[in-house]
This record gives sequence, C-alpha cells and structure tokens, in this order.
Amino acid sequence: MGILEVKGVGKRFGGLQALSDVNLSVAENTVHAIIGPNGAGKSTLLNCFVGKLIPDTGSVMFNGESVLGRKPHEINQMGISRVFQTPEIFTDLTVMENVMISCFAHRDGAFRLHPFETVAHETDIIEQAEKMLLDVNMADKRNMHAASLSRGDKRRLEMAMCLAQEPRLLLLDEPTAGMARADTNNTIDLLKEIKEKRDITMAIIEHDMHVVFSLAERITVLAQGTPLVEDTPENIKGHPKVKEAYLGE
Ligand code: ADP
Ligand code: MG
Repeated sequence: MGILEVKGVGKRFGGLQALSDVNLSVAENTVHAIIGPNGAGKSTLLNCFVGKLIPDTGSVMFNGESVLGRKPHEINQMGISRVFQTPEIFTDLTVMENVMISCFAHRDGAFRLHPFETVAHETDIIEQAEKMLLDVNMADKRNMHAASLSRGDKRRLEMAMCLAQEPRLLLLDEPTAGMARADTNNTIDLLKEIKEKRDITMAIIEHDMHVVFSLAERITVLAQGTPLVEDTPENIKGHPKVKEAYLGE
C-alpha cells in the first residue's frame, strides 16, 4: 500500500465534472509526478489532499488515515506539506529568521509574531534552523534578506521552511513555473538533494517535461479529470495515448 492512497475521487464545480473516479497510489519514498494538459484537474486533485477542497466521492488516505473532513493545519500535522507556485516567505526577514519562524511554528503548533525576542535561549531552535539551511545548501546565505534572493534561492528557502515541519509527503504544484532555465535546474538539484538526505515522498505536478523526467520514478497522466495512464517515465515517453493527449498538444 502507498503512503497516499486515492480511490474513486470525484469533484464537481457546478456543471463541470473537474475530477471523476481518480485512483492513485503514491509509494513511500518515491517521486510521483502528475502531468496532464491545462484544466485536467491536477491542482483540484492536490487541493483534495490538503483539505482545501473536499471531494464529492471517494477516499484519500495518508499513511492509513483518512484526510477527508480534516482542516488543512491538521493534515499538515499528519505529515503532508505543500509548496506553493510562488514561494511563501517573509521578504522583510532574513533567511535564518524565516526558517526559525517555521521551526517555532512546528514546535509550538502556532505562529509567533515576535519569535526573536527570546531567541538567545532557544538554542534548540537555532540548531534546528541551521540544519534545515544546511539541507538546502543555504547556510552561507543565512543573514541575507529574503527579498534579495534569486528565484531559485527563494524556492530553497521555502523548502527549508517546509522541511522544518518534518513532512513525510511533500506536494509540489508546478514548482518551476515561470522560472528561467538556471533556476529550474537549481530547483531540480534541490529536490534531488532533499531526496538523498531524507526519507520523504514527493508528489509533483509539473508542466516542464525536463523537470518531470529528471525527477519522477512514476508518472500519472491526468486528462479531463481522470487518470489516462500510470507508468514509469520510460514507458510514458513512448505511450501513444500520452503523446496524443499531452506531449503532442
Ligand atoms: P489543472 O491544475 O490541471 O490545470 P485545475 O484543477 O486547476 O486544472 O482545474 C480543473 C478544472 O476545474 C478547470 O476547468 C477549472 O477551470 C475548474 N476549476 C478549478 N477550480 C475551480 C473552482 N474553484 N470553481 C470552479 N471551477 C474550478
Ligand atoms: Mg494547476
């Protein structure tokens, strides 16, 4: 059984059947990509995993427990973290301060408005934040202002903040959208590095086939709200249905 098991998921928006009968199994410690044309339902599906949407039918099980009906922060505490298309960081703060906020939030279960007042005593938080920055190769940028980072480094910082929550499943919705090639490659390297350093599962929605084929071990192709095929990258590349529905679009 996969760490994420999706069975018979359907979601309707008014007259539009955005998802129908979606079955998907994401194996633990793998990178599983979900691809498909615009409007195929990829983001809607992801939103059903994190409690942003509740499907009309079907089940979503994470680590043997249902996520349906739970609030986004509860699902986050279960071990699912999501990375946004635009990195969600505090641009007024330094790199280190950003990561510390996330470490505090994970430890205390709440955000603190002034996390740095007592910081001299919080050696555990400082150590933890330093480790997260090492994991994303940003230790040398700890005192930089987050606003001045490149797009790739903003993504790295967001990832460090995500890792502070100790997720077992990381969900990424088009993490390289709008990036130049250098930042895209930086992000591919980052995800590979994290995968090497941690026991973590990734489900990634991605348009850029270079990213998909660099990272994914399994690929599900979604078309018109339902999985068309699920296979290894090698088989997906040559699949006639996939070429027709997606790669050839
Ligand atoms: P993808 O991420 O694959 O591009 P989406 O999941 O964003 O596709 O959208 C799937 C379909 O559902 C699209 O036709 C989109 O317009 C529609 N849709 C998505 N979210 C909503 C919503 N909140 N209300 C109405 N329609 C929506
Ligand atoms: Mg989308």
